[in-house]
Amino acid sequence: MNTLRLTSLNDESTGRTVITVGSVKVGEDFVVIAGPCSVEGEEQTIETARRVKEAGANMLRGGAFKPRTSPYDFQGLGLEGLKILEKAKRETGLPVVTEVTDPRDVSWVCEYADVLQIGTRNMQNFSLLKEVGKANKPVLLKRGMYSTLKEWLNCAEYILAEGNPDVILCERGIRTFETYTRNTLDLSIVPSVKEVCHLPIIVDPSHGTGKLSLIEPMSLAAMAAGADGVIVEVHCNPCDALCDKDQAMSPEMFSGLMKKLQVLRPCMEEINHGNGGRS
Ligand code: PEP
Ligand code: MN
Repeated sequence: MNTLRLTSLNDESTGRTVITVGSVKVGEDFVVIAGPCSVEGEEQTIETARRVKEAGANMLRGGAFKPRTSPYDFQGLGLEGLKILEKAKRETGLPVVTEVTDPRDVSWVCEYADVLQIGTRNMQNFSLLKEVGKANKPVLLKRGMYSTLKEWLNCAEYILAEGNPDVILCERGIRTFETYTRNTLDLSIVPSVKEVCHLPIIVDPSHGTGKLSLIEPMSLAAMAAGADGVIVEVHCNPCDALCDKDQAMSPEMFSGLMKKLQVLRPCMEEINHGNGGRS
C-alpha cells in the first residue's frame, strides 16, 4: 500500500482523522446517519427527518440525484430535493448527507449539503473525485461494488490529493455469488481499513443486505467490528417509498435499532479502552 501517500496509517503518531460535521465528530463518536433513500417530497422528508432525530440520529440522509439501474425509474428531484433537505435541516438541526453524481453539480450542491456522498457506481469517477477534492465539504466515499480495498483507498487518495482531507469511507456491500442478500456486506473490511488507513469508516447495512430483517443485526455487528458509524434508510411510510422500498425501515424499527446500539456502545468502549472513549 506504499503508493497510498495520504490515506495510509503510517504510524500511530499521525493519529486518526476526526471529521467535524455540526456537533458530530466522525471518527470519535459513533455516528448514525438515517433518512430516506430519496427525497420524494417535503412532507415525506420532513416527517422522516423528525422521526429519526427523535430516535437519536446524528445526521439526515436523502438523495436528490438518484443513480438508478433503469433510466425509467425515479431519478430524484434534483434542486427541488436539495431545497427540501435544507428545510428539513432547518426544522431538525440535522446536518445533511446527499449524493452528487456529476462534477458540474459539485459547487452548487455544496450550498445545500453538509456531507457530499459519492455512490458505489461513481467510486472510480475520477473527474468527480477531483471535483469533490476541491470542495470544502466532507465526502462520504462509498466502496465500489466490485472494488478491492486498495482500489477504494486509491479513490480516497484522489480526493485527499486535491486538498480535501475529510473523507469518510463507507462499506455498502460487494457483489458475490450470493443471491439471498442484495449484496454481501463485507464487515471484515472495517478492521482491515483500521489497520492500514487513518480515515473513519462507516457501514451501510441497508444497501449491504437489502433486507429489512438483516439491518439491525448487521448494524450491531458493524459497531462490534469497530466501525465509526452506520448509515441506514428510514422512510416514514415504507410501503410508499419510491426507491429501495424493501429495505426501508419504519421509524419504529429505527428507534428499536437505536436502543440496541445504545446498549452495545458502552460494551464496545469497555472492550476497546477499558475506560470509555474511542480511539
Ligand atoms: C444510496 O445511498 O442512496 C445509494 C444509492 O447507495 P449506493 O451508491 O451504495 O448504491
Ligand atoms: Mn437506496
